[in-house]
Amino acid sequence: MATFSPDALSAITPEFSYAGEKSLSRETACRLLRADDAMLPSLLAAAQLARDRFKPAIITYSRKVFIPLTNLCRDYCGYCTFRRDPGEPGAHTMSPDEVMEVVRAGEPMGCTEALFSLGDKPELLFPQMRDALRHLGFKSTLHYLEAMCEKVLRDSSLLPHPNPGLMSAEWLNRLSRVSPSMGLMLESTSTRLLARNAAHDNAPDKAPAKRLRVIEDAGRQKIPFTTGILIGIGETLEERVDTLIAIRDLHEQYGHIQEVIVQNFRAKPGTPMALAHEPDRADMLRTLAVARLLMPSMNIQAPPNLSDPHYADLLDGGINDWGGISPLTPDFINPEKPWPHLAQLEQRSNAKGFELRQRLPVYPEFADHAASHSGLLADRLGTASDVNGYARRAA
Ligand code: SF4
Repeated sequence: MATFSPDALSAITPEFSYAGEKSLSRETACRLLRADDAMLPSLLAAAQLARDRFKPAIITYSRKVFIPLTNLCRDYCGYCTFRRDPGEPGAHTMSPDEVMEVVRAGEPMGCTEALFSLGDKPELLFPQMRDALRHLGFKSTLHYLEAMCEKVLRDSSLLPHPNPGLMSAEWLNRLSRVSPSMGLMLESTSTRLLARNAAHDNAPDKAPAKRLRVIEDAGRQKIPFTTGILIGIGETLEERVDTLIAIRDLHEQYGHIQEVIVQNFRAKPGTPMALAHEPDRADMLRTLAVARLLMPSMNIQAPPNLSDPHYADLLDGGINDWGGISPLTPDFINPEKPWPHLAQLEQRSNAKGFELRQRLPVYPEFADHAASHSGLLADRLGTASDVNGYARRAA
């Protein structure tokens, strides 16, 4: 883990000076996460110094289409409006033709990522999903996902980025041959959230140990991996720091975490957490800044649509990426929060002094790792990337 020691920090407070000289301690991170309004500007200044040292001048995004391959899911997270049971209005598993229709529509719009987001192993709970998969000719959702990723890779200019939930080491290996990166949100290392009426009550796939195991298995296989935290779902500030430190430690060991998402919980009508308190702007900024100071050289992302209309402020917390933005498909996970128009995103990034640049679903510094997993991937990445590893298409 690279660190930094800008003299300017010591002029702010000894606390922030310490941040970055060596890996930030849990104790210091917890203290910084409690920074009051008077301290917040100094904390943000420290985070910006760290970001500008390691990730200067450029803010990236991935132009994507969102493919909700199936919204059936065996978990029941307290904040989720994406999932459905079979027979519920809106329950749907996409056909291969529907997948390729979205991909084809995204190509002329300059999209370079096909984000496959889907429920976790619905066939384990629902016979209807087993029937649907049998009808499609697949044994499991992961077999179907693998086939669709390969089809997108072979038959389009887009690159797949699957988010299928928990995976075995064998499935990580299989999917790594047909996708340059993949993702699994850690969300939180707090086991308290699995308790009755907590956010992950009745969500067996959200057990932290299982998710940490997947991220570690991906590290052993050198798979460029996206993960992150979901803040405001009932975790304490200490647990939030523990989650960030778990991600940092895995990256220090394996060097494979290409991106850390800091996502803020938004309360959605009709969910068990509809009335839960949402993190406010200052809470989000403090968390971003602490994440940056814990992981100064890593890519840190926050979704702009979950902080609209003030999303440009997130740059003050030290992020260097906006995540996936689609000019075509809605955010099916947060359909009530549309993504900003790309022209607006560029204008607001420019106003803060950043150049907006389109990246691929794999970050430039991880592209070689991705390409090592299959000849097909190496070939497609070579075609899709420019000399610096960003998307060949201009932002
Ligand atoms: S958040 Fe993901 S795992 Fe949880 S219920 Fe929704 S789709 Fe399923």
